[in-house]
Amino acid sequence: DAKIIDGKATALSLRARVAEQAQAFADAAGRLPGLAVVLVGEDPASAVYVRAKERASAEAHIGGTVHRLPATTTQEELLALVRALNADTTVDGILVQLPLPPQIDAHAIIAAIDPEKDVDGFHPINAGRLASGLPGFVPCTPLGCLMLLKDYHDHLAGLEAVVVGRSNIVGKPMAQLLLAESCTVTIAHSRTRDLFGAVRRSDIVIAAVGVPELIRGDWIKPGATVIDVGINRVTLPDGKTKLIGDVAYDEAIEVAGAITPVPGGVGPMTIAVLLRNTLVAAHRKTGIALDERTL
Ligand code: NAD
Repeated sequence: DAKIIDGKATALSLRARVAEQAQAFADAAGRLPGLAVVLVGEDPASAVYVRAKERASAEAHIGGTVHRLPATTTQEELLALVRALNADTTVDGILVQLPLPPQIDAHAIIAAIDPEKDVDGFHPINAGRLASGLPGFVPCTPLGCLMLLKDYHDHLAGLEAVVVGRSNIVGKPMAQLLLAESCTVTIAHSRTRDLFGAVRRSDIVIAAVGVPELIRGDWIKPGATVIDVGINRVTLPDGKTKLIGDVAYDEAIEVAGAITPVPGGVGPMTIAVLLRNTLVAAHRKTGIALDERTL
C-alpha cells in the first residue's frame, strides 16, 4: 500500500517554524509581520477560509487584519482599499479573497496589488517571475504541493510529472515549479485527448481539476506519487456530505507509492504557505535577514 503523505503534520511543522521566525522579526522590527485579508460579500466558503486564515495568523505571530466589505462594493471602492493597503507600511502581505462579486474585475484588482505584497502570488509580475526563474511570490497551494513532494523525494530531476488542470491559481504555477525542479512536465486539461496515457506514464501526478474521483486507481503508474489538490463536497446516499478529492483514493492507494488524503493532504499546506509568504514579504521589505531555505 502507498505511504500516506501527512499534509497536516507538514503544515503544523511549517507553521511552528513561521511562528518562531515571526517572533524574531517582531523583536527586530518592533512590530509583527502584517497580513491584510480583504473579503467582499457573503460567500459562505470564503467566510470559512478567511476565518481559518485569521486563526492561523494569530497562532503564528502574524498580525492579521480582515477588511470585510459588503457585496455591493464597487470596483473603485475596492481599488481604493487596495491602494491604501499598498501604502500602509505596517502591511507586508495583501490577500483579496476570491471569488469577487460580478461587478468587480478580479484581474484589475490583482494587478493593483503591490507585487512585493502579493503573498498569494497571483499578480502577473509574480507569475512572470516564476516563469522566468526569478525570486518573487509563488501561489500558496502549488508551493505547498511542492513542499510535500520534496518531503518524499530527494531528487525530482528527470521524473515524468503530469499536472491535471491549468488554472492560474494551481495548475499553471504547479507546472512551472516542477519544470524548475527539472521534471518532464505534461499539463493536461479538459481538452486533453489521452488523459489516461498522460497519467499512466507519470512518476508524479498532481490532480487539480475539481471533478470527484476523475482519476482512477488503474490509471496510476505503480509506485507513483499522487498529490490530490481537489476538494469536492459530495452528498452520500444517507444525505450527509463529505469531502473527496479528484483521485479515487481507495483505488489509488493500492497502486501508488505515496498519496495525499483529502482532507488532510494539500488543504492544510495552503494556509501554512500563506503565513510563510507573509513572513518572507516582511523580511524582504524591511531588509531584516531571513534564511528562506529554512522554511
Ligand atoms: P479551476 O476550475 O480553475 O480549474 C480546473 C482545471 O481542470 C481546468 O484547467 C480544466 O481545464 C481542468 N479540467 C476540468 N475538467 C477536466 C477533465 N474532465 N479532465 C481534465 N481536466 C479537466 O479549478 P482550480 O481553482 O484550479 O481548483 C481545482 C481543484 O482544486 C478544485 O477542486 C478546488 O476546490 C481545489 N483547490 C484546492 C485548494 C487547496 O487548498 N487544497 C486550493 C485551490 C483549489
